[in-house]
Amino acid sequence: MKRIFATSRIGDPAENRLREHGYELEVFQGPEAPPKTLIIEKVKSGIDALITTLRDRIDAEVFEAGKGSLKVVAQIAVGFDNINRADANKYKVPFTHTADVLTEATAEFGFFMLGVLARKMYSSERLVREQKWPSWHPFLPFLGDEVTGKTIAIIGTGRIGLAMIKKCSGFDMNILCYDPAYHNDKYIASIQELMDLRYATGIQKERTWIKYVEIEEALSGADYVSIHVPLLLDIDTDKPTYHFINEKTLKLMKPTAYLVNTSRGPVVDEKALAKALKDKVIAGAALDVFEKEPLPADSPLLDPEIADRTRLFHHFASGAQITRLSVDPDKGMAGRTAQAVIDVLEGSYGGDPTKMPYVVNKEAFEKKS
Ligand code: NAD
Repeated sequence: MKRIFATSRIGDPAENRLREHGYELEVFQGPEAPPKTLIIEKVKSGIDALITTLRDRIDAEVFEAGKGSLKVVAQIAVGFDNINRADANKYKVPFTHTADVLTEATAEFGFFMLGVLARKMYSSERLVREQKWPSWHPFLPFLGDEVTGKTIAIIGTGRIGLAMIKKCSGFDMNILCYDPAYHNDKYIASIQELMDLRYATGIQKERTWIKYVEIEEALSGADYVSIHVPLLLDIDTDKPTYHFINEKTLKLMKPTAYLVNTSRGPVVDEKALAKALKDKVIAGAALDVFEKEPLPADSPLLDPEIADRTRLFHHFASGAQITRLSVDPDKGMAGRTAQAVIDVLEGSYGGDPTKMPYVVNKEAFEKKS
């Protein structure tokens, strides 16, 4: 019987699907991640598949422990910066992730973060709850900033960036796009056509626009900056995203601008951001991801002085029922993870990992001619 170890629960429907498939599934009950020593021990015991979360560091030590038995690492997340790709390739173990199924949910959450931040919904609710709402007034005790008609910079126009663009265009926003590696000109042209149609038919009052620009123009021209890049270190690329938002890039932004990050925590230099918020270099920030998760108690982002302009969430952008738990591989991260394991263990697609849709490191299995 094929054996699977999961470092976290992935929900009843997907777990049952694996068990019904005839696999022996052992699940670390958490809710925290298991220590690496336990992962190594399980892998050494000869499991066929390992289900991981982005909290687990998967590297040569793990692959060495699974030599001859470990056939797949299936990660329930999009993004795989915790998995050492070179090591996976060296040991010829395919690893998978759950791209696409969380695209809309993550973009939607990013858009709501932007709204909560700009319209000061947290401060408003606090007033009501704490009985500090004196009376209705035209502008006291504070006002928020509109989203409609403003300009947003989308940093990274991959799956989630494009979904965010779609949502922002529905709010009559102008859109500046920046991506050094991938331009989806067709998508951008279609959004412009929709914008023009909405304007021509009177659905929106002002004409809006979308275009690709360089990073300086994106950061300096935007009222909102939303980050949708993978975490890339300088060993990975000549355009790393580690600390992409830093003291220097924050200074390029308008003092009235807001930052939204749903990508990965280390893309933002948190110390520099907290200082920028304190010094009012920018107007506010909403973060779903952090350099260290959970956010440590001594984080400068928790400074009460910047609480009114800093919204913080618990890596929750993809955290919606269907997106996380559906057993349907076209809808749920759990379903996609289970399917990825089945694809490899059952040798679907002729047993060729390069043809399996959720395998990331296809290059390790490409036949050299
Ligand atoms: P994707 O690979 O489809 O898109 C990423 C885009 O970023 C690509 O187009 C790439 O060319 C671009 N890019 C790379 N380097 C860049 C740079 N230096 N500057 C600007 N753009 C750059 O990935 P995706 O599915 O859109 O996801 C994006 C990231 O969002 C993931 O890598 C993951 O880290 C994060 N994510 C977070 C959550 C969450 O719950 N908060 C959920 C899903 C994904």
